[in-house]
Amino acid sequence: MLNKIFGSPQQGYSGAPTPQSISHCCIGKELMPRWRGPEQMDDDTNALGFVCHACGREFGHDMVRNRKISQS
Ligand SMILES: [Zn+2]
Repeated sequence: MLNKIFGSPQQGYSGAPTPQSISHCCIGKELMPRWRGPEQMDDDTNALGFVCHACGREFGHDMVRNRKISQS
């Protein structure tokens, strides 16, 4: 079962997402789409962003365009 990340703030994640390159940490890690709600979870293009579970960093669509996103 895959966990879904919704639009609510993540506990333990402080600070606004900073647009920057995907770090080495995030390469090879699954990025989980973050959604507004369950009704929009059918399409990655509706995701608010993509979160690396290893470091908690969030990326926008531009950052993950060439990456594989974990899918349910
Ligand atoms: Zn990372």
